[in-house]
Amino acid sequence: MIDLANLEAWFVTGSQHLYGTETLKKVEEHATTIARGLSASPEMPVKIVAKPVLTSSESIQELCLDANKTKNCIGLITWMHTFSPARMWIAGLRSLCKPLLHLHTQFNQELPWSTIDMDFMNLNQSAHGDREFGFLAARMRLKRKIVVGFWQDAAVHAEMGAWLRAACAWHDAQYLKVTRFGDNMRNVAVTEGDKVEAGIRLCYSVNGYGVGDLVRNMQQVTDAEVNQLTAEYDETYRVAQPLRAGGCKHQSLVEAARIELGLRHFLEENGSRAFTDTFEDLHGLMQLPGIAVQRLMADGYGFGAEGDWKTAALVRAVKVMSQGLKGGASFMEDYTYHLKNGGQVLGAHMLEVCPSITDEKPSAEIHPLSIGGKEDPVRLVFTAASGRAVNASVVDMGNRFRLIVNQVNLISPEHPLPKLPVARAVWVPEPNLKIAATAWMLAGGAHHTALSRSLTSEHLENFAEMAGMECLVIGRDTKASDFLKELRWNDAYYQLANGL
Ligand code: MN
Repeated sequence: MIDLANLEAWFVTGSQHLYGTETLKKVEEHATTIARGLSASPEMPVKIVAKPVLTSSESIQELCLDANKTKNCIGLITWMHTFSPARMWIAGLRSLCKPLLHLHTQFNQELPWSTIDMDFMNLNQSAHGDREFGFLAARMRLKRKIVVGFWQDAAVHAEMGAWLRAACAWHDAQYLKVTRFGDNMRNVAVTEGDKVEAGIRLCYSVNGYGVGDLVRNMQQVTDAEVNQLTAEYDETYRVAQPLRAGGCKHQSLVEAARIELGLRHFLEENGSRAFTDTFEDLHGLMQLPGIAVQRLMADGYGFGAEGDWKTAALVRAVKVMSQGLKGGASFMEDYTYHLKNGGQVLGAHMLEVCPSITDEKPSAEIHPLSIGGKEDPVRLVFTAASGRAVNASVVDMGNRFRLIVNQVNLISPEHPLPKLPVARAVWVPEPNLKIAATAWMLAGGAHHTALSRSLTSEHLENFAEMAGMECLVIGRDTKASDFLKELRWNDAYYQLANGL
């Protein structure tokens, strides 16, 4: 469902006419070689397309306007091979509304010590050409990423790849629709937010529907479709005996499959790539959607429980950013603690955890849900795989959206959890639970998060920068007292930066 193959980033090289056509031909040759080299790197999630070398204000502006209107262009990568007087870039950059990465590199890795002359010096001068561009971008207060290093270096590829993945998610947000069945869980504060502001700043659109609309869609599902899907459940999961054909709870599995098919049709019909529901509004549904939500997330849909549309959109962004990487991503909730051994978090939800974060074969089970007053829901049960992960939350601070990111380490539970009827993940947050939870709550981070095993805080920082969101990272070096100061400085900054 997420396809990055048709997306591209444009590689844009700056120069000027001063050097003559021979030099410009060489510049073009170098730019094409670099773009081709970058494009071939497995770190790049999209094609890197070389554009003609730009030497005038008119051609720069035309290219920026072209980038704006080219739907599959996710951003620009600029490089000043030679000296490109930056006032030429003002008109173009002023009109550019795609993300910008400034690559500070040089075609040759080594200085040719014994042969270097002024011709060589004049051809390879990004060391100062890029500084001229850097000044203008700083003077214009442009949001951009600067990557420094030799263009064939693995570290440069990794940094560019992380930025491009964020640009893919930002591109996706421009067209994202979030469907909500019902409203937020009553009286909850952190899952609320300003949908108009989200539309203006984060670009996606959030729309409410009655759960009855979903029920009508479910009624159109045929028995043949349902049978096919329950057969797929049988093949893909360890289906508990009572849920199997002939079992005493088989009808619940049939109902769960009908919910999944209805949901899929509904979301496809209205072009939504993220959605929310709430156990408080299930009118006409026999059970809270469990396995349906889990499988839709595994296919790339964003999801937030209890009406949490901000987390649904964030889960979708994380899914797009991690497309093609190993590890998976899920909606998550900090549920309960093990306060021994320095402190561990047991993350889970009532039902809705994505099976992409486990390496094991999930079991399909049915158990009572202690709230909501509906029939027992079918859910997939598993434990998340171990390893590094990132846990992120987005909150509405009233005058800005804030993204809070915590690097965490998923571990295997110390003991089996035979009575726990939901999918779960156990982790130790960095630097430890005491500091991480202090900082998280000082920042107002939610209990709902997007958890990813394939991304790092770098991806999310890039994404926040593009989206103009405040980004707070809690990691190995975080100290609660410094973090509190950062929050206060940011409050002052956003107060000033927002202006009137
Ligand atoms: Mn919840």
